[in-house]
Amino acid sequence: MKVIIIGSGLGGLLSAAKLSKAGYEVEIFERLPIIGGRFTNILYQGFQLSTGALHMIPHGPAGPLSQLLKEVGADVDIIRKKPVSVIRIPRTKKDTDYKFGHKDLLFEDFKVPFSILNRLKLIYYIASTRKNPPTGQSFEEWCRKHIPQDWTHRISDSFFGWALSLKSADVPVEEAFAIIENLYRFGGPGIPMGGCKGVTDALVDIITNNGGTIHTSSEVTGFEFNNDRVTAVIVDGNEHAADIVISDIGHPATANLIRPETDISGMDEYTRTSKSLKPSAGIKICLSSDKPLIGHGGVLLTPYAKRVNGINEVTNVDPSLAPVGKHLTMAHQCVHWNNIDNLDREIELGLEDLKDIFSGKKYEVLLIQSYSNDWPVNRSPSGADLQNRTPIPNLYVVGDGAKGKGGIEVEGIALGVKNCMQEILIP
Ligand SMILES: Cc1cc2nc3c(=O)[nH]c(=O)nc-3n(C[C@H](O)[C@H](O)[C@H](O)COP(=O)(O)OP(=O)(O)OC[C@H]3O[C@@H](n4cnc5c(N)ncnc54)[C@H](O)[C@@H]3O)c2cc1C
Repeated sequence: MKVIIIGSGLGGLLSAAKLSKAGYEVEIFERLPIIGGRFTNILYQGFQLSTGALHMIPHGPAGPLSQLLKEVGADVDIIRKKPVSVIRIPRTKKDTDYKFGHKDLLFEDFKVPFSILNRLKLIYYIASTRKNPPTGQSFEEWCRKHIPQDWTHRISDSFFGWALSLKSADVPVEEAFAIIENLYRFGGPGIPMGGCKGVTDALVDIITNNGGTIHTSSEVTGFEFNNDRVTAVIVDGNEHAADIVISDIGHPATANLIRPETDISGMDEYTRTSKSLKPSAGIKICLSSDKPLIGHGGVLLTPYAKRVNGINEVTNVDPSLAPVGKHLTMAHQCVHWNNIDNLDREIELGLEDLKDIFSGKKYEVLLIQSYSNDWPVNRSPSGADLQNRTPIPNLYVVGDGAKGKGGIEVEGIALGVKNCMQEILIP
């Protein structure tokens, strides 16, 4: 059975590793000269920066991605170090060392800034909504009704801005609760040794060792059909026959590969729905310093910053991601769809935040990267993902346009790939 995969991002590589191990003949076509999509490293001034991700795996060594990597035999070391996350908040007059401006709270103490009444409500809601999570509104709307406090808004925007590159007003409440549930189940983030490339390289080894092939600089430009099934993909004008096609390029781009005159039931609706999804956008600012700016391997959430949602410093876990004696710190900020045409201003505000957060510390801005449209943070905003199936029975979509429920970023990709593999391997 021959499977062709379009795109060598994490979704494509995970699918290829799983299917090549199961005995399928696998061929990947990747339009770029490099493998890994938004989950690989770029060597820049001796630093291992990345094409997208912040070298972080949301649920570390216990989550769905780690489980899937183990299942396919990929040799990746994912390290979770304490503290996994801290929250920077301003000092108040109650703090003895008030003059220093801010202090860091452990993530598990995020309830501390709530009023006593809201703390009690929170405990009640966490316990009572587990079986029957709320639905039909955004997380922000739900919070406004149930736990109205400035802190609720700040901490949820900072957390979802970091984790999903979305504002809490754009996260459906059911998805937010599924994410919170998964945080309790799998725990917080970890860093893969070697960064993103540590993961994608390990998958490439599995694929090639099992007879799979990866073609780079090879863009898929269309499909051939027989009745309602794809029979081949077109690359450089040549047809490559396949029994199954898996697309890692998102639903809208996959729909674009299908000629409009192709007569397939449900296609118009599929194209309309997939094109209505707005990819989540963001800005990453990479910093270099001689001394650590954060000093631990977790996430620093910054709910009082103007734009920056969170920051990590991966060299506290894997020093090989920077030249000897240097640290690599990366700040992430969500860019709301309303601000997408104002990226320069968004970057300015992010840089101002960093000056504030690291005031008195020495650092250099290495690189500023922005992500939107067809190179976004997530192809589909979390909670709005379409399934892996398309109206074409042997054409599937994986990746961050088809994440599984409650899956943050690459954890969602792994859940989506698992769902897709169930459809293919257990028909
Ligand atoms: C700033 C930023 C920070 C992030 N931080 C994290 C993080 O710390 N942790 C985390 O878990 N996630 C993070 N993410 C998200 C994560 O990087 C992505 O969700 C993930 O890498 C997407 O993988 P994918 O397989 O869905 O798609 P992609 O990586 O985009 O792969 C798709 C591939 O398909 C190729 N392609 C496209 N069209 C064609 C075609 N026609 N023919 C052939 N090939 C084609 C593309 O070139 C690409 O290589 C971050 C993303 C960004 C942008």
